[in-house]
Amino acid sequence: MSPSTPPKPVLLVALGGNALIRKGQEGTIEEQFENLRVPMSQIARLCESHRILITHGNGPQVGNLLLQQECCPHVPRLPLEILVAQTQGQIGYMIESTLDSALMDLGIVTQKHLVSLISYVVVDPKDPAFRNPTKPIGPVYPEEVVPELPFPVKKTAKGYRRVVASPKPLHIVERREIQRLIAMDFVVICCGGGGIPVVREGRSFAGVDAVIDKDLASARLAREVGVDLFCIATDVPGAYVHYGRPEQRLLERLSAEEAERLAREGHFPQGSMGPKVEAAVEFVRATGKEAVITSIDAIEAAVEGRAGTRIWAE
Ligand code: ADP
Ligand code: MG
Repeated sequence: MSPSTPPKPVLLVALGGNALIRKGQEGTIEEQFENLRVPMSQIARLCESHRILITHGNGPQVGNLLLQQECCPHVPRLPLEILVAQTQGQIGYMIESTLDSALMDLGIVTQKHLVSLISYVVVDPKDPAFRNPTKPIGPVYPEEVVPELPFPVKKTAKGYRRVVASPKPLHIVERREIQRLIAMDFVVICCGGGGIPVVREGRSFAGVDAVIDKDLASARLAREVGVDLFCIATDVPGAYVHYGRPEQRLLERLSAEEAERLAREGHFPQGSMGPKVEAAVEFVRATGKEAVITSIDAIEAAVEGRAGTRIWAE
């Protein structure tokens, strides 16, 4: 790069769990690789004009690992922090290899370096979420086994499920490493599943049994490493008002203030669109930059301002 060339803007793409397993699919490895092809070919093209960070969800994958543990009680159980680490490895590998193939198809593989990073995210041990676990994870249990389960359980729409704390992300432990890799134009895949939740114990970190929302962790990452555009890619074209009703309407441009008002009015439920809008608002308020919520199939159009819900700070 010559000294006069301005650095490429930094784009963060946060991929929803559905980037790998679509609703209604069984979730085989073949399906997961196939589902990644469209988003990765778009990201490959965006690599020419942007420096790129990728984060991802892990709900279905961690759910399957928990289910495998349930089926095999004579193998020692692994705590959640280890399962999150496992999914960072497995999904990081799938994203990296699919993106590598997409870059190869474009003939730009030699100039591009990819890296998947195991990432810790610091949470506050006094976060009120630890007193009130709300995030359902893993399998549905029949009512009769619920009293014997060694963890808190709540009745959800699907049935009885384990619930864990979902504390707020405070810091991305590897933020400096990520910043340096991005400065060198590496594509960095990190903060998978919202990151491995850790608390500080003196000078070291200890993993905790919790899950961090991947959209909120991505907003933290975006602020800490200096992202220019934060793109949240999911399985709908953007944020709607009156979602799921005949009068539903896609929001194309949304100020942070209006987003908060609509959130208060109940348009963006917790556990799905709520954290995406909250993450976008947090990022645009803190940085004055923009965020976009879009479909996994329209990442390129959304980056170019032709799709999705654009959120900006008023
Ligand atoms: P991801 O795995 O990408 O995080 P989620 O399932 O958590 O996806 O969130 C996306 C889902 O949010 C959509 O599939 C949709 O059903 C739901 N949703 C709820 N409210 C809205 C809304 N107001 N606008 C758009 N989607 C909404
Ligand atoms: Mg989600």
